Amino acid sequence: MSLIEKTAAELLTLQAGGQASASEITDAFLAAIRDRDPKVHAFQHVDEADAKAQAAAVDAKRKSGAKLGPLAGVPVAVKDVLCTKGTPTTCSSKILQGFVPPYDATVVERLRAADAVLIGKTNMDEFAMGSSTENSAYFTTRNPWDTDCIPGGSSGGSAAAVAACEAPLSLGTDTGGSIRQPAAVCGIVGIKPTYGRVSRYGLIAFASSLDQVGPFTHDVTDCALMMEVLAGHDPRDSTSVNEPVPAYTQSLNTPVKGLKIGVPKEFFSEGIDPEVEAAVRTALKEYEKQGAKLIDVSLPHSPYALAAYYIVAPAEASSNLARYDGMHYGHRTKQKADLIATYAKSRSEGFGKEVQRRILIGTYVLSSGYANKYYVKALKVRRLVKQDYDDAFKQCDVVMGPTTPTAAFKIGSKSDDPLAMYLSDIYTVSCNLAGIPGISIPCGFTKAGLPIGLQLLSPPFDEEKMLRVARMYESATDWHTRRPTV
Ligand code: GLN
Repeated sequence: MSLIEKTAAELLTLQAGGQASASEITDAFLAAIRDRDPKVHAFQHVDEADAKAQAAAVDAKRKSGAKLGPLAGVPVAVKDVLCTKGTPTTCSSKILQGFVPPYDATVVERLRAADAVLIGKTNMDEFAMGSSTENSAYFTTRNPWDTDCIPGGSSGGSAAAVAACEAPLSLGTDTGGSIRQPAAVCGIVGIKPTYGRVSRYGLIAFASSLDQVGPFTHDVTDCALMMEVLAGHDPRDSTSVNEPVPAYTQSLNTPVKGLKIGVPKEFFSEGIDPEVEAAVRTALKEYEKQGAKLIDVSLPHSPYALAAYYIVAPAEASSNLARYDGMHYGHRTKQKADLIATYAKSRSEGFGKEVQRRILIGTYVLSSGYANKYYVKALKVRRLVKQDYDDAFKQCDVVMGPTTPTAAFKIGSKSDDPLAMYLSDIYTVSCNLAGIPGISIPCGFTKAGLPIGLQLLSPPFDEEKMLRVARMYESATDWHTRRPTV
């Protein structure tokens, strides 16, 4: 196995044993980006000199005998929705073209403090709105398993970067599935932590009551490692929760005794690809083999979750995106106009079609006369969706099902049909509405060779058990060791 195919844990061991330096590792990934990214298009911005300098600093620190951080010398790619001091951050939008943040997001700060090497910024759906990265204002990222297919979205660049071995780790964000869905279709691991578990400071907001930051990794061990670095209270994010962060890596290999798995019938609804269903059912059998009990649970309000999400998320987006007015930063129209017309023209020129659609929907559902009918009603549905999970978790430790109804679809096949695109989130949005954590792990391939994801959901702040349960399956299978030929 070459350096670039290794996991972060393996790269740490190699460095500790003196078999590879941070500079050698970083050079290997930079070479992989040069070689593979012209095919995958995962990265929006890579500064080779800066990455090399970070790696050299880690090597020097090691030589000096100073204590190293938990991700020392491991490259990490960062979704372009997270502010990186001195490095362009565009949200893959024209409206933020040329924007260079004067500060780091807390998660970026934490990665630097852990001695990770920030290797580049990744492509995404504009403002994280989408499920395929086709909504990027710049280019579409490709699925490393089949470059005619989408890598998922909105964090498609971050998922493709890890799957294609252009980075061993990356950061994404998940508002309605944007970590778990691309992880599933790219054959890697992706976790959406409990709302409040990871700081949102410096994350450019899409829908603030749903957004969470989380990692993409090759396996569950690396995911636990990343969670130890990312999670924890941040006084700069008022929704960040002051709960102790368990040592996730310590308990990881202890299987959960007497595990009870809730299997909701609503997660095997019509529209699910039979190959996806078969792979998930086989994964559930593996758990049974390990002594777990499968329990039928019901999430009766989940058929309404998608509709509620596509009201709540656009409503919040329409408010969050009001700040892009062409005045403070980002794109300003060149056309001569008065103040109001300058706002309007800058926004029309700077925002893409999907973002404009969301702003229109959001403004509509919040407008007087309609707010009670749509927005307030959606909030009530959200409460019921949460209640469903509370009830389910009285009977089981985790809930399981497919992450996505189908494997990766062809680029262009849904881009003219927003409703068909929204349906890719059918199994992921309820987790965000409920604020609970969810993880997607690889559980097989379709006959066409495309990855399939298994989704695990757990009660709030129970990531520790969720990761242990994920590891139980992983330790009995080898899907996570497969790498595509790019
Ligand atoms: N695909 C969903 C949307 O378009 C979710 C996006 C996300 O999680 N950021 O809103």
